[in-house]
Amino acid sequence: MHMMIEEARLSRYWSDIVHRLTPYVPGEQPALAHPVKLNTNENPYPPSPAVQAAIHDELGGTGESLRRYPDPTARKLRETVAAYHGLAVEQVFAGNGSDEVLAMAFQALLKHDRPLLFPDITYSFYPTYARLYDIDYRTVPLDDAFVIRIDNYSVPNGGIVIPNPNAPTGHALPLAEIEQIVAANPDSVVVIDEAYVDFGAQSAISLIGRYPNLLVVQTVSKSRSLAGMRVGFAFGDAALIDALVRVKDSFNSYPLDRIAQVAVTAAYTDDAWFRDSCAKVIASRERLSAGLTALGFDVVPSAANFVFARHDGYDAAALSAKLREREIFVRHFRLPRIDQHLRITIGTDAECDTLLAALHALLDGEGR
Ligand SMILES: *Cc1c(COP(=O)(O)O)cnc(C)c1O
Repeated sequence: MHMMIEEARLSRYWSDIVHRLTPYVPGEQPALAHPVKLNTNENPYPPSPAVQAAIHDELGGTGESLRRYPDPTARKLRETVAAYHGLAVEQVFAGNGSDEVLAMAFQALLKHDRPLLFPDITYSFYPTYARLYDIDYRTVPLDDAFVIRIDNYSVPNGGIVIPNPNAPTGHALPLAEIEQIVAANPDSVVVIDEAYVDFGAQSAISLIGRYPNLLVVQTVSKSRSLAGMRVGFAFGDAALIDALVRVKDSFNSYPLDRIAQVAVTAAYTDDAWFRDSCAKVIASRERLSAGLTALGFDVVPSAANFVFARHDGYDAAALSAKLREREIFVRHFRLPRIDQHLRITIGTDAECDTLLAALHALLDGEGR
């Protein structure tokens, strides 16, 4: 039924590229009052109160400032974040979510004659961008423990994209291995997507001064509780940042609105809040991992704000569907090698307990 509707909508007015696209499908945002939402790696804690104050100040009583366009360069925000990371403002790019920043990096820096490389199990937006921009790519298999083997990236390539920690596995590479990949590929740009780095991995930002081919991408969506603001960054050599600016200014001069610019600037001034919320998520991750293990799940050791787990006795798609009936949402991917895994976002301890109780009840019922 669904397929028929989709097919009926194909149109001769579409461009070739639209016919060929396979769009990314984001996790469900259920229209329920109180779902236990552990499916899109949002932070269970609110952003810093400084964010709300900054938004209030920006709007004033009447929203007067919204008459005007925002700063197209997001200068104040970039200065704040540059100072936070010990970088120059020219080494910082800001975009509408790190998804947009990644899309611009694919177009600006990763489209070359030789194929782009990324892991076979990774963020599923990468193949989507590659198809959108008509970029040839090869996937590099993770080993059986879902670990990235860095030697496999020493083949001729037109660029490399690696999330650290990887998604949806949560596995992190040590900084020394990231450096080896960057150093082994001086002729290509290596993009390290650090969407989850604040939950337990080492950032590659410290390498930027030594490697002009390194681009580090981060987001405020996960560790800073601002998924709804849509802000992401790229950090790297000023020449790489200039390439992103050239693409941005050929597409949309104002990707960040006024509210987003002041809100995220404020978030970076409240480091105590940020550290406290990351620490709570990390503690809950260890607690949830232990709870899942006690129920018989294999849990991949995670350095992110989610865990990736499978149970040998139960089909993952069926478990996910049963949890959904109880308004508990986790992520299941119908993809090779991982279709028996569930990716579970770390919620509050209360949410994790609700999940564990539901799993306990379901596992007591029927197996496969
Ligand atoms: C969530 C995520 C992003 C996108 O984050 P936004 O800034 O919200 O667009 C990018 N990369 C990975 C690996 C992610 O999991």
